[in-house]
Amino acid sequence: MELKVGDSFKCPEGHEATIVWISEDKKVVAVRCPQKHLGKVRKVADHTKPTLPYRHQPMTERQIYLKNMVFLIEI
Ligand SMILES: [Zn+2]
Repeated sequence: MELKVGDSFKCPEGHEATIVWISEDKKVVAVRCPQKHLGKVRKVADHTKPTLPYRHQPMTERQIYLKNMVFLIEI
């Protein structure tokens, strides 16, 4: 199957994504997906108790969703 830039391709999470780059040996493609993905869960300082020294601040987790992520996929 011949793929080219602009074709639709499934992102790793199964959404409809668009091919934005193809490697010269056609073994890797980059696809950009317009759907939201969970990027990472980042530990952030909880600033609700600002009187505590920084290292004693409780940490809270924040989920970060990213749109238009680009994935490299081996084909
Ligand atoms: Zn996706």
